[in-house]
Amino acid sequence: MSGNGVPKTADFVILGAGVMGASIAFHLARRKAGRILVLDKDHVGSGGSGRSSALIRMHYSFPAEVQLALISLKMFEHWREIVGEAGEFRKTGFVRIVHPNETERLKQNVAMQRSLGAKVELIDRKQLQELEPDWAVDEVELAAYEPDSGHGDGNVVANDFLSRARELGASYLSKTRATSMLASGGTVRGVQTDHGEIHAPVVIAATGPWTRPLLQQVGFDPPIETEYHQVAILKNAPDMKGGGCACIDSVTATYFRSDASDKFLVGDFYGKRPVDPDNFPQRASETELEEIIERASRRVSKLENAEVMRGVTGVYDMTPDARPLLGQIPGVEGLYLCAGFSGMGFKISPAIGLVMSELILDGAGTTVNISAFRPTRFTEGQPIKAEFEYKDD
Ligand SMILES: Cc1cc2nc3c(=O)[nH]c(=O)nc-3n(C[C@H](O)[C@H](O)[C@H](O)COP(=O)(O)OP(=O)(O)OC[C@H]3O[C@@H](n4cnc5c(N)ncnc54)[C@H](O)[C@@H]3O)c2cc1C
Repeated sequence: MSGNGVPKTADFVILGAGVMGASIAFHLARRKAGRILVLDKDHVGSGGSGRSSALIRMHYSFPAEVQLALISLKMFEHWREIVGEAGEFRKTGFVRIVHPNETERLKQNVAMQRSLGAKVELIDRKQLQELEPDWAVDEVELAAYEPDSGHGDGNVVANDFLSRARELGASYLSKTRATSMLASGGTVRGVQTDHGEIHAPVVIAATGPWTRPLLQQVGFDPPIETEYHQVAILKNAPDMKGGGCACIDSVTATYFRSDASDKFLVGDFYGKRPVDPDNFPQRASETELEEIIERASRRVSKLENAEVMRGVTGVYDMTPDARPLLGQIPGVEGLYLCAGFSGMGFKISPAIGLVMSELILDGAGTTVNISAFRPTRFTEGQPIKAEFEYKDD
């Protein structure tokens, strides 16, 4: 042991105890892969995971993402059996509203999702109005409705995965920052931390918006840009009924959901780049929250009378195609990247840990083929483009 109880060696070092690092630790530990060590420069859930709006939906335009979301939904539904904790999954139902000129794409995507086993149906304006009588839906021709989707909680997921991994033998150190990678001869040798060196043949960077400088040191520049986002938490107006479907709405460029029985959450499609993930406003701007709520209230007019309780701020790790970077870093054997979730990672985190564990232990994601997400796809001129992608995907 060196300083801070840091061991000198491990078989797997996972950097970052967000939902991704914790999920990878859980899946590796479940397979009794060896000595697993998770490090976080702060503490579990302190990155984007603990600030997540945590919507859960199957509606993606790229099939592999639908597959990852479906596997994850099964895990959220059976959290106690799999992870051993109560979990925090709320099945509220989910609605996707797209721009009217993208209705054809919506149909195609719903057909693709259904073919992969997602429980999703197209509903027309009348059905949507029956489902959500308080929403203004005049311009909606068709929407996608997922009765089994809803939302979870990023802190709960990160903590539960990590606790279970530790019960299965993994170790965890908070307040331990990886300052550089140790690599030589085209192979990773471990990490240098602010409390000493750790030697390991496998290192996994699940470091969210902090990833880029860490990997630049080994000669790979992941195209991840940081983007600042703000979310409003409102107290329901007296005439608002609690609960209701979560929604992603391209027309108002907002997403929203109920939060417990008496609150409501509204988030924005738009963010500001770049932002320092170690130094960004912890308080949301009241004026900007009002603007986001004003847009959402075009859909849910009763929000006009709801009181803003607080704001949540956070940082997305955006990639050029808004999809994650999953895979081994070229030229550095044993160094894996799992970041760039572009504001959408929570809902797929249970499956991401599974496929990353397969990639590391078996050489490839076997449950879902994740090769399209390889970190080199941009330099190869192969960004992911779904067949029926939306303009704001
Ligand atoms: C405001 C907001 C709303 C969101 N809403 C949704 C949503 O509705 N649905 C959805 O699916 N997703 C949503 N997301 C996205 C989702 O939360 C993220 O994609 C997911 O949490 C990313 O998890 P992660 O583990 O990759 O990163 P993080 O949670 O950021 O974890 C990275 C961890 O790495 C640690 N770390 C960084 N550098 C080092 C280092 N050098 N050494 C050691 N540790 C280090 C950090 O301290 C941090 O704990 C939202 C995100 C935000 C910010």
